[in-house]
Amino acid sequence: MCIRENTYIAQCDWLNFVEITRENPHNMSIIRIALDVPLSTLFDYELSGGTPLEIGQRVVVPFGKKEVVGIAMERMEQSDLEVSRIKSVLRVLNDVPPLPMELLTLLRFCSDYYHYPIGMTALSALPTRLRAVEPIAMKQALFYTLSEAGKTLDIADLPKRRIVQQRILQALQQAPVSGEQLRSLSSTSPAALKALLEAGWIAACAPSSSTSHIFNNAHALTDEQQHAVDAVVRQTGYGCFLLHGITGSGKTEVYVHLMDAMLTRGGQVLLLVPEINLTPQLENYFRSRFPDVELVSLHSGLAEGERAQNWLKAQSGAARIVLGTRLSIFTPLPKLSLILVDEEHDASFKQQDGLRYSARDVAIFRANQRGIPIVLGSATPSLESWHNAQSGRYILLKLTQRAVQPATLPTVRCLDVGQLPLQEGLSEPLLTAIGVRLRRKEQSLIFINRRGYAPVLMCTACGWLSECKHCAGKLVLHLKDRTLRCHHCGAQQRVPKACPTCGDVDLKPVGMGTQRIEDALRAHFPDARILRVDRDSTRNKGAWDAMRKLIHDGEVDILIGTQMLAKGHDFPNLTLVGVLNPDGGLYSADFRASEKLFAQLTQVGGRAGRADKVGEVIVQTAFPTHPLFHALRAHDYAAWAQILLEERRSAGFPPFMFQVLLSAEGKQEGEAMAFLKRARAAAVELNMQVEVYGVLPAAMPKRANHYRAQLLVQSDKRKSLQDFLRRWKPQLDAMPTQRIRWSLDIDPMEF
Ligand code: ADP
Ligand code: ZN
Ligand code: ZN
Repeated sequence: MCIRENTYIAQCDWLNFVEITRENPHNMSIIRIALDVPLSTLFDYELSGGTPLEIGQRVVVPFGKKEVVGIAMERMEQSDLEVSRIKSVLRVLNDVPPLPMELLTLLRFCSDYYHYPIGMTALSALPTRLRAVEPIAMKQALFYTLSEAGKTLDIADLPKRRIVQQRILQALQQAPVSGEQLRSLSSTSPAALKALLEAGWIAACAPSSSTSHIFNNAHALTDEQQHAVDAVVRQTGYGCFLLHGITGSGKTEVYVHLMDAMLTRGGQVLLLVPEINLTPQLENYFRSRFPDVELVSLHSGLAEGERAQNWLKAQSGAARIVLGTRLSIFTPLPKLSLILVDEEHDASFKQQDGLRYSARDVAIFRANQRGIPIVLGSATPSLESWHNAQSGRYILLKLTQRAVQPATLPTVRCLDVGQLPLQEGLSEPLLTAIGVRLRRKEQSLIFINRRGYAPVLMCTACGWLSECKHCAGKLVLHLKDRTLRCHHCGAQQRVPKACPTCGDVDLKPVGMGTQRIEDALRAHFPDARILRVDRDSTRNKGAWDAMRKLIHDGEVDILIGTQMLAKGHDFPNLTLVGVLNPDGGLYSADFRASEKLFAQLTQVGGRAGRADKVGEVIVQTAFPTHPLFHALRAHDYAAWAQILLEERRSAGFPPFMFQVLLSAEGKQEGEAMAFLKRARAAAVELNMQVEVYGVLPAAMPKRANHYRAQLLVQSDKRKSLQDFLRRWKPQLDAMPTQRIRWSLDIDPMEF
């Protein structure tokens, strides 16, 4: 009862503290604030003189009829706006320390470079909880210290009844104290702590960091690994390293040793991984190597509260290792001393909506800004990074051997499907090879990048094909639940009994998907334990984790999977990988398709024979003599990259060109085109150092009832493209676009 009353009083005190009045009109300052609105400006608000505020703090301000959260970016003497139009800051949020200047600079850079509104850029970098107008409660044991304002405060001036607040301030005059200790002072100290934070007299701070930690050093490094570790550890200041290591060469071990070195120096390390790789297993793995080091992960799969807490641990410096997907590149890390980007070529580092940033590229900027090393790791680096390593901008580090002796790279065999009859998509030699693995009690993986039963359903009488009404795509047959589904817009319908056009009942599935291969293999190997891993079978939470356990425990003989299975997983008993129909990637309209296919096949092939057993990869293709397969058989990434770079150079594509893609979509056919034609005319009119292509329908010209088109502009100099964008973007902003949506994608990865 008593506790409640006190809490209530404390809360009233807090309201008194934070309510900002206009008592002192001569002592106002103008704060320029980033707000989550689609305008490329900051917003001016005034703050009464006495209110403590640091740049980087979150504030609550009136915007239209709402109260919204913003970030204080700058302080000004006066505003260009008329005085009567300037509203006041309502509250300053003191629940977490201000965002550091370094992060604000990074956000400004991203806003400029990606031509995305500064407010939306800044706010999208925060966890959802920190974008809400309510202050957040911190669970973690943060440390607190007196703020600048608090240091000048005379404790005796506080009202007598605020005993607990006085005791907290007295304690902090001696040294920073952990929140846990402060909260144990009295039953009302949580409320008192909150009140002091809100008043701006105390601030959260980093705990004193100890540089000693436990490191479980599992392996003696190979010479190549040691060389790589030494090169990075020796680096003083910024340096971008490309760690090119074949699959199984022990890149992770290099990361672990680098982490150890940086922890010893008292630093924080950020490891960026592709979306699909950040699993509890990976987290546990790093925990097991550094058992007493605080480690957090940051990704969109976390609950909002957990993500905010992890972010705060990173911001306070308490979390020394941060594992994260692309969004974690915007985490404040006061002691950041190394950034690692694993599988740097992975497409998931590029955000495909909103702020279309490349986390890898932003990471490089951030390392440069901070003057620290960054390591990009991959068995199949992006051509951009490889080109930079060739030209000397990045420092190339190589791991050419598998770490575990005597493991070697798998043999790769290409089967010509033009010469071999297929039974339900599977050739006799592949079936034989699977049979051999079954007898030896080894695992096989059949890789096919198409989920569902068959890519399309066809009427044999009239040639009708199952097409999506809302998209320019086919409906995929899913036999498990007898539906036709669109993988682009999600539309779904039951499989028709007869052809909707001619009424014939002879409808046939055309082509192969994971489900159909599963049925075929079950028919062929009735006793084998078969597991299909794709987005359909792993939809339920925890399903993929359970499956991975089955695979590891040897409860599975044959795996069928899409690209989900290609990456980063170590299945020691897997000795055969079969690749079905990869040919779409060989002659695609997307100029990056063959680069991606090589990366994917190298990754998936790398799953075979990782331990003491020799692996084999069998590829079924109509083009066995294609140079891609030649390089794949020879495990020669460098040769393949050379071929691609030559092609790109002569065709005038990245990495020799820098691109921006303007995409538009509208409900009426032609509207997006019309907008883009106006945009194109404006671009040509500017007459700058860029190539302006023609307006074209998108690769998927209609999706979810929207017609889509695009316009590509490129230049051989990044700076020329940026100069052009600075003039073109305001013109685009000024065009009437009520009926369409458009977006700019700088350094686009998808077309
Ligand atoms: P990559 O990420 O390059 O594909 P991993 O880091 O997964 O390779 O390493 C492959 C395997 O080699 C792992 O099982 C790892 O424990 C082992 N390994 C790595 N480095 C060494 C080493 N120096 N000595 C022995 N085993 C090692
Ligand atoms: Zn028909
Ligand atoms: Zn559709």
